[in-house]
Amino acid sequence: MSRGILTVISGFSGAGKGTLMRRLTEDYDNYALSVSMTTRAPREGERDGIEYFFVDTETFQERVRQGRMLEYACYCGNYYGTPRDYVRDRLDQGRDVILEIEIQGALQVKKLVPDCLLLFVTPPCAGELRRRLEGRGTETPEVIARRLARAAEESEGIEAYDYIVVNDDLEACVRQIHSMVQNAHYTPARQETLIKEIRGELSGFSKGAE
Ligand code: 5GP
Repeated sequence: MSRGILTVISGFSGAGKGTLMRRLTEDYDNYALSVSMTTRAPREGERDGIEYFFVDTETFQERVRQGRMLEYACYCGNYYGTPRDYVRDRLDQGRDVILEIEIQGALQVKKLVPDCLLLFVTPPCAGELRRRLEGRGTETPEVIARRLARAAEESEGIEAYDYIVVNDDLEACVRQIHSMVQNAHYTPARQETLIKEIRGELSGFSKGAE
C-alpha cells in the first residue's frame, strides 16, 4: 500500500473551503480531514473535536513545546495548529489527508513534506468574497474588515502554491480537487516500485538479447 497524499488547502476566509472539504469526504472514500487545534472561541454550532479542538493559549503553547504540532500559526489574534500524530498515522494507513490551513502553516508543511500538494482556493472575484463573508452572519463588521485585510496580505503569497482553484461552481471544484490529488499519486517519486520492476524487466530483456 502506498502512502497517502498530504494536501493543504488554503484560501481567503469565505472562499468556501469548509464546504469543499466536506463534499470531498462525502463523495469519495479515501480522504481524512485533520481537525486543528485553536485558541479561537467556538462559533455558534461548532463542536469541540469536530470543527476544531478548542483550547486555551496555555494548552496550545504546551503542545507546541512538546513538538506535537506539525505546524502552527497566529491568525487574526488566535493560534491555530495541526496535530502531528493524526496526520502521520493516516498517511501511513494510505489515506489522503487534507489540511485546511492558512498560508504561514502551508509553507511550514511544504518544507517538512516536500511532496505535499498546496492548493489555493479563491472565489472568482474579491467582491464575491466580501458578499460571502457578510452573508455568513456569524462575524462582526470589525472581524470581517480584519479578515479582508488579511486576504489582501495572503493574496501576495499565492505563487507559493502548486495550483489555484476558482470556486465558482461547487460540483466542478470538488471534481477538480479530487483529480489533482489522484494525479499526485502518479508522480515518479510515488511509483518507485513500478519503476524498479519495469527497469528490472527491461534489463532482463537486454541481457537476453546479448
Ligand atoms: P477560522 O477562524 O475561519 O475557522 O479559520 C481562520 C483561518 O485559520 C483559516 O484561514 C484557516 O484555514 C486557518 N486554520 C485553520 N486551522 C489551521 C491550522 O491548524 N493551522 C494553520 N496554520 N491555520 C489554520
